[in-house]
Amino acid sequence: MRKPIIAGNWKMYKTFSEAKEFVEEVKGLAPDASKVDSVICAPALFLQQLQASVEGSTLQIGAQTMHEEKEGAFTGEISPAQLADLGIPYVIIGHSERRQYFNETDASVNKKVHAAFEFGLTPIMCVGETLEQRESGSTGSIVENQVAEGLKGLTEEQASKTVIAYEPIWAIGTGKTATAEDANEVCGIIRKKVAALYNDETAQQIRIQYGGSVKPANIEELLGMEHIDGALVGGASLETESFVKLLEAGL
Ligand code: 13P
Repeated sequence: MRKPIIAGNWKMYKTFSEAKEFVEEVKGLAPDASKVDSVICAPALFLQQLQASVEGSTLQIGAQTMHEEKEGAFTGEISPAQLADLGIPYVIIGHSERRQYFNETDASVNKKVHAAFEFGLTPIMCVGETLEQRESGSTGSIVENQVAEGLKGLTEEQASKTVIAYEPIWAIGTGKTATAEDANEVCGIIRKKVAALYNDETAQQIRIQYGGSVKPANIEELLGMEHIDGALVGGASLETESFVKLLEAGL
């Protein structure tokens, strides 16, 4: 049985005061960590203080991206060593917005996923097709390729610990959710690909989230699907009430 993982991706929203207030309110409401992993991926600027504020609670803090090198002359970047030193457990890697606006590629995603494991962080590796790719019928092959390239060189144990987020780009922030059946179908393709790259056991262990206009009204149906083990949520993770409902749906 795979434990659900519900993660909010705040993107570039919230001031520090707003973030702190949110976390103070939600940290006591997050479900038992043995049943659901509850994560907020916050702007890097807030990570240290939010991490300190969730200590002892079941709410966990994640980063939204990081550089692949341990350290170096990379102005403005944040390293895996810096995240690990703060005790941050999760990091989103290769979100479609990073791929689209910040030139991230399958190759850089793969380097970052390796770096995450090297420093004891769990990567939430994002994959997903554009509308054009979906309409041309290439969703399966696009996503399989992103999974194979992203996981390349990982050990079986590392692969099984990776969280994959399937986020169809056309469903992000658009209010258009993939139907639960369509989302499940692609998550099933991802699981099958992991089985082909590794083995059935690894494929059964790996957790696959769906992301793209997830909200309290549709999360239960999505989580009810065989291959969907959680959600990566943008807009609906910004309000405490809806985020708590999303977490509770994981129970
Ligand atoms: P929305 O939930 O706002 O569609 O965003 C999805 C997303 O990109 C999460 O990473």
